[in-house]
Order: sequence, then structure tokens, then C-alpha cells
Amino acid sequence: MTFVTNLECIECGETYEKEGIHYLCSNCGGNLEVNYDYSAAAEEWHRYEAKKGNELSIWRYAPLLPVKPIQFGGLNVGWTPLIESVRLKELLGMPNLSLKDDSKNPTASLKDRATAIALARSLENGAEVITCASTGNAASSLAGLGASIGATVKIFVPENASRAKVAQMLLYGAEVFKVKGSYDDAFDLCIKATEKFGWYNRSSGFNPYLSEGKKTVAYEICEQLMWNPPDAIIVPVGDGCIIGGVHKGLKDLIEIGVISEMPRLIAVQADGANSIVKAFDSGDEIGTTAGNTIADGIAVGRPREGVKALRAVNETNGYALSVSDEEILEAVRTLTETAGVFVEPSAAATLAGLNKMLNSSLLSKSDRVVLLLTGHGLKAPEAAIGDLKTMTIEPDISDVEKVLEG
Ligand SMILES: *Cc1c(COP(=O)(O)O)cnc(C)c1O
Ligand SMILES: [Zn+2]
Repeated sequence: MTFVTNLECIECGETYEKEGIHYLCSNCGGNLEVNYDYSAAAEEWHRYEAKKGNELSIWRYAPLLPVKPIQFGGLNVGWTPLIESVRLKELLGMPNLSLKDDSKNPTASLKDRATAIALARSLENGAEVITCASTGNAASSLAGLGASIGATVKIFVPENASRAKVAQMLLYGAEVFKVKGSYDDAFDLCIKATEKFGWYNRSSGFNPYLSEGKKTVAYEICEQLMWNPPDAIIVPVGDGCIIGGVHKGLKDLIEIGVISEMPRLIAVQADGANSIVKAFDSGDEIGTTAGNTIADGIAVGRPREGVKALRAVNETNGYALSVSDEEILEAVRTLTETAGVFVEPSAAATLAGLNKMLNSSLLSKSDRVVLLLTGHGLKAPEAAIGDLKTMTIEPDISDVEKVLEG
């Protein structure tokens, strides 16, 4: 049993019953959000508090999740580390900086949180096939957790999806359609396939349950900080589903009285895929860009959950900014060299964003800031390595000596 009451369109307010499969609002095409009976959920949350200690996964927050917990053959989704890197703090002069390392999930990205909920939901609905469109991580996550429970997974990715992510999908045994075109093309085709073949769809910005998984990262950040939420959380943004989920999670915690202060949510996009930043700056509707960046996880031309993302930023007195590919690559190197934390470019964009915020005094060095690190560096090494080279030598000690002498 769950405490879900219904689903509600975030744009026109139309409601939908919790049973059955709903994606976008049939009235206006807006994204749907899952509602709860918060007073009942709060009671269960506090009753459950005592026994959740051993549950080192997203299921420790079962009272505020929309599905009954399922197991993934021993793979634990969530409860990832909050890293305190002394060296990075010193380098930046920020004593209160923390890194939420979601690359430690089973398929090495934050997307596992959403996949876990979507797979549980697809089982509840008796779906035989589950599909998604993805720049890479959502698909490798669906393929991986799907493999652990024997689900049939079919995936749509853009032609230029990272080799490592495609390797994951194929090895996990999913059927992969590489679409000649962009992520946005893959997305539209995946929806057509869902309609035509009756598959269950786990695409971001389409399936309302994904935010319910992604929000658990906000619960964890707050719990790991002893329920004393940070001043700001910096989130890399493509479709906007993660930052919308983080916002939902924080609102949930305020609703049940576990925290009282709302952190500022800072959205970081890439310069070449900055639709949400443009809308934040201009106040106009969210438009389309080329979606061009080496950070493939945020290479989104037409954000599908942009309204939620903007709301997350605006309602928390947050901010939205974009960073260049060069700044992202530099941030990858800083995180690896200084903290020993190897994340993919999309995740490192958060550090590039932090630097810019500090330079323009939009954040202060004493602020308690969390960078949300969304995916592992080995998922996109070609993009990150830049012009770094190894030296090649003969297997001879005198060659080593020559190099050491310079
Ligand atoms: C998906 C993803 C993002 C962006 O998430 P959205 O929900 O599309 O905004 C950021 N970083 C990584 C590593 C991702 O896989
Ligand atoms: Zn609507």
C-alpha cells in the first residue's frame, strides 16, 4: 500500500486517478505530478524511522514512494556517499562543500533511482516490454536493473550515444535502436513505439513516476547532513527531470515536517544546450537549441520537463546558468585530480557552475553547498580525456631515467 492520492497536471491542474498508466496531461500536454496524503505518509514515516536503519537503498523512504518496494537481485539503488573532500574544499576555499556521488549506483548514474520506480510500476501494470529514449544513462540504467529482474527492455538512443553507455546496454541484454538523429528524434520515436506496441515507457519528461525516484537523492542529502539541509544544491540539467525531482523531494520533507528550510536550487546547463537558462533569463517560454555539448547527459535541445525545472529554480530563490565545454572539461580534471572523484562531463558541469557562481558573488564561499554528481567518468572517457596523453617508452629502465631527468 502507498499513500498516493492521485496525479495532477502541473500546468492546468487536471487530475488523474492513481490506477492505470498515465503519461502527459490529455487536456494540455503538461507533465503530471504524483500527489500523496501527506499526513498519513508522515505518520508512517515516523513509525518507520526506527527500522529503516538497515535499508541502505531508496526503499528506506518507502512511506513517500509511489510503489511497493521490489528487489533487484541484491543491487542496491541509492544511499550513495556524500563525500567531504578536504583537498577540494581547500582549493576552493569552501569549508562547507559536499559532493553527492551518485555515480555509485548499480549502473553508475543517478538514473537508477528513477528506473527502480518505473520498473516497479511497470510490473504493477503487467507490462511485458519496457522502453525508453535516452542520451545514454537512462537506457543503460533501464537495461541493467531490467536485467536483474529479467525484464524485456527496448531502447532508443541517438546515433552519437557514448560507446561506453551503449556497451552497457548491449551487455545487459537490451535491444538497442540507434536512431539517425538527435536525442530529441529518439525521444519522439520512442513515444510512437509506445503508442503503437503498447510498451511501458520510462522516458524522462514523459513518465510522471521518474521524479518520485529522483527525489530520493534530496532525502539522502538531507539525512546525510543530519536533516540540516544545505544552503544550495547544484544540479546538472538536460530535460529538467532531476532538478524537478530534487525540488519535489525537498517539498515532501517540508510537508511532513522533517526539514523547515528550502535550499536554493541551482540549474547548470551547457552553453550549447541552454533552453532553460534562456527562459530563466528572459522570462519567455522554453525554446529549442541545437543541444550541442560534449556533456552528452545534458545534450538536450528541447527539455521535456523544463516547466518543472524553472519552477524548481524560481520557487527556491535559485539560479540558472550555463557553462562552456572547456569549463566542463576543466572541472572534470579538478574533481579527479583534487578529490579523486571521476565523474562524467555532465556531472562535472556542476563544479563549473559553482566556480561561475562564486566569481559573480551569487554564492558565498562559506555557503553550505552540495554538488550533485550524476554519472561516472568511465561512461564517457573519450569526451573527458581531451588532449591528455600518456608517454610511451621501451621496457627499459634507462628510458624511465631519461623521462625522470626531463
Ligand atoms: C540525465 C542526466 C543529467 C540530466 O538530467 P535531466 O533530468 O535530463 O535534467 C545530468 N547528468 C547525467 C550524468 C545524466 O545522466
Ligand atoms: Zn494539463
